[in-house]
Amino acid sequence: MPADPLEIRGLTVAYGEVTALAEVDLNVAPGEVLALLGPSGSGKSTLLHTVAGFHPPRAGEVWLNGRCVSCATSSVPPERRELAMVFQNYALWPHLTALDTVSYPARRRGEKRAHARAQAQRILERLNIGHLAERHPAELSGGEQQRVGLARALAREASLYLFDEPTAHLDTHVRGVFLEELVTRQRDTGAAAVYAAHDAEESLGLADRVALLAAGRVIQVGTPQQVYDEPVSQLAAQLTGPSSVLTTTDGGELLVRPEWARLGGDRSARIGDVFFRGPHSDYLLDTTQGRVLLREPGPPRQRRGDEVTWSLRHSWPLRVRPGSGSDAEQRCRTGVKVPVVDDPHVPHGVGT
Ligand code: ADP
Repeated sequence: MPADPLEIRGLTVAYGEVTALAEVDLNVAPGEVLALLGPSGSGKSTLLHTVAGFHPPRAGEVWLNGRCVSCATSSVPPERRELAMVFQNYALWPHLTALDTVSYPARRRGEKRAHARAQAQRILERLNIGHLAERHPAELSGGEQQRVGLARALAREASLYLFDEPTAHLDTHVRGVFLEELVTRQRDTGAAAVYAAHDAEESLGLADRVALLAAGRVIQVGTPQQVYDEPVSQLAAQLTGPSSVLTTTDGGELLVRPEWARLGGDRSARIGDVFFRGPHSDYLLDTTQGRVLLREPGPPRQRRGDEVTWSLRHSWPLRVRPGSGSDAEQRCRTGVKVPVVDDPHVPHGVGT
């Protein structure tokens, strides 16, 4: 069996007194996309930079394709780690056209000029900048330069890609196209990837597995559906999407995702607020068990103050109670305000 493209064991990284990562264990299987999902400051960039060889770990090991590249006794420099890292911002060469820039990785691999250029043109077209192929960076807008940078990243071939929030500065449409292209190329090449993001929807949509990071620790690893449907704690639930917590009569806590609740049924509530979201509407219900965020397709059917009935199709019992849980849970609980219902103005994810 081939070795995993990436294996991280007991990784601890610090900046002076600040521990940015603590005892992280993770692996990425061949061809797998692992999303790192966590709020700003949770350690995502630090993890990628350490794997790429830019930070020495304080403790632990990094293995790439069965070779230890960061160990107590040895460290392989970044340029010899044979991986591709894609950052939020891209530095383009001012003297090269978009087409030459995107052809460059294939030319470096030794591919013929015509083939490299045809491939590059196809990637530029997928990102809707095919007509800009002959322009230099100075003749491109900031957003267009961004897309050329992404196209160049997609043109590279490596057994492991590290993406550090590559879509952070893209508008929604280009973001969607880039993610589609990324997934297609992933399938075609069989490369593995670690994809850091703070957007839950994006991470859940593209990953084979998701690692949830909070305050430098991994709090849960699972398939997108596992981390969304069965979060290990309220914090894990908040990282993966909007949710509410109901308190049952015996004092237990039940997690409810907005689409697990429906208007109509045997429970009563008053509408605290309604938000039109385009394809669906969000209702904040005041119930005897707490505030519930409920999502229904279509425009609002009720108004604030209306008395309604509702029902639960599904719920998930939370096991971690306040005052228990890991260090990361504790630090996040004390450091971050944890509302009973996510801010409905933040439809997905954790914000920054
Ligand atoms: P993320 O990528 O999830 O936003 P980072 O890896 O950038 O998180 O940061 C993790 C932690 O390390 C944060 O507490 C951050 O403030 C700290 N940190 C990051 N870079 C430095 C640095 N160069 N010096 C000191 N602390 C840093």
